[in-house]
Formats: sequence, structure tokens, C-alpha cells
Amino acid sequence: MPPTPAPALGADGWFTTDPEPALVGHRCPACGTVAFPRPPLGCPNPACGSDELEPTPLSRRGRIWSYTDARYQPPPPYVVPGAEHVPFCIVAVELEAEKVIVLGQVVAGVTVDGLALGQEVELVVDTLFTDDETEHQIYKWRPVA
Ligand SMILES: [Zn+2]
Repeated sequence: MPPTPAPALGADGWFTTDPEPALVGHRCPACGTVAFPRPPLGCPNPACGSDELEPTPLSRRGRIWSYTDARYQPPPPYVVPGAEHVPFCIVAVELEAEKVIVLGQVVAGVTVDGLALGQEVELVVDTLFTDDETEHQIYKWRPVA
């Protein structure tokens, strides 16, 4: 039986794949502040104090605000997805509508030479790693062609 897709450990509720990949943010109905992922103590706006937050789909596109790459293998709980560590890129993306900055991996095959500040990227849901039973999925960013 092929591994079953599921959000990677800790990423439950962070994204959806239906009808298309989207991050699930949380909007405060009192002041409109949007946060991702869900803040544990309610609205993160210090002037608000509301503990009510409503799930809301976030922009699927944004622009690169900062970027780097992970040349060294991260420590556990990171799981090497293949036989050996392959460097991957990490971007901080300013979401198109919300202007919230979201960190994430870049899809495989992209190096820092293929990234630039202000470059447009879109959200995808991709494999983080696979074990015998589960394809552990996470959101990643892909440069818009
Ligand atoms: Zn608020």
C-alpha cells in the first residue's frame, strides 16, 4: 500500500489542499489582525486583547522578503528525506494581500542563485519526507515562472 499523505508532525491545520493549496491563517474579528500559524493566546495585536480568532485562507502568492539556504543538515527532529542531506532553500515570503511574512522551504531543485528579493512565489503542498506508512506533507514555496 502506498504511504498515506498527512500533514507533517506539528503542521496539522496549517494548510489545506482542497480545492488548491492554501495556508490557513487566523483573523481576529475585532481588529482584523491576521496571524499564521494560529497564535496560542488569541489575537497577537497588543492593543486588542480578543481571544477569538477565525480561520481564513491566506494569499497563495507573495514576494520574497528574505532568503537563505540550509547547506548543513538540520538537527533532529529534522528527517533527511533521502539517502543523504541535500541543501534546500528557505524563504521569508510577504503574502500578497495580508502582508504577513511566512517562512518556508522552497521546492527541491531551486538554489539561492535562482532566488531574488521581490521575486514572486506561489504556495504548493509537497512531501517533507516519507516513511513506511505516511507521506509527511508540508507547504513549500515555488518561484512563479
Ligand atoms: Zn484583534
